[in-house]
Amino acid sequence: MFLIPYFPLPSRPDTVVQFQAPNVEMATYFCKARPETEEADTTEYLNKLQLADSFSDSKTWTTQDRRTALWWIFINSRKDATISFNYDCAHCGEEHWHDCDMRELAEELEVLACPAEMPAATLNVQGEPHEFVAMPLNGHAVEQLERLRACLPPRGGDIDRARAYEREVKNLLVWELAYQLRLVGDTEQDPDKAAQIRYNLISKMDLGTELLALTNYVADMQATLRHGLNIAHEKGLSTILLPPHYCRADKFKEEAVRPSTRLLVPFRNQQFIPDLGTGSLANLSFQSGLVWWSADL
Ligand SMILES: [Zn+2]
Repeated sequence: MFLIPYFPLPSRPDTVVQFQAPNVEMATYFCKARPETEEADTTEYLNKLQLADSFSDSKTWTTQDRRTALWWIFINSRKDATISFNYDCAHCGEEHWHDCDMRELAEELEVLACPAEMPAATLNVQGEPHEFVAMPLNGHAVEQLERLRACLPPRGGDIDRARAYEREVKNLLVWELAYQLRLVGDTEQDPDKAAQIRYNLISKMDLGTELLALTNYVADMQATLRHGLNIAHEKGLSTILLPPHYCRADKFKEEAVRPSTRLLVPFRNQQFIPDLGTGSLANLSFQSGLVWWSADL
């Protein structure tokens, strides 16, 4: 068994876990990883790779702990941790390939020195005060959101169907808000039942005042409790800012400092879950049409 160096969770560094490197059996099992089940697959992958002595259920980790753990396993389980990115250079206008050593992302890793939740805030629901605490989404919450998303009605169609879809999308956003909160003094043990109570409260909030105060509080939490890899979320896309690298075009060879670029690339958990897919094994295979079906035509 190949062991990976200890991993302290970025949101609570007192919790330290250890993973083993994925083997062929594991990669064969996880070749089913798909974008629609990304979070459920992430939980299973992170739990299966952990050693029993230091086990901590990755459902209880924040989404950033989970992503950072995937990256940690990736960089520590391969000889070559580079990923190549192709882009049009803004300095010289040429197309470049940048081989990024993913280990360099460690330089911008953030670890929380405080508990991963905000001081409680008193927020009103139809004038009635309630005490909420905001905290980052955890694995259980993102899995639940992923399941709700899979139940969305089909997109498009006639106007009624398009409206039904839009309504459910907005609903999902309210659920996401509910999962980033807890009510002070709430004794409900089932996380989904507790979220339902918060969902019902948020649904009754006055739009222009009470909901606004809540969204400001949650936005403040997201900015204050940043941790893990430097991943940004904008317009539904998670992106990671790569470290700077220099333009190698000849026209800058005389200059004291060559211009540099920081690439912003999409981050998906799935990319860090191993897949034997069309890689080394498939390239060795003589079985026609087994992996690339088009070869059979
Ligand atoms: Zn260039």
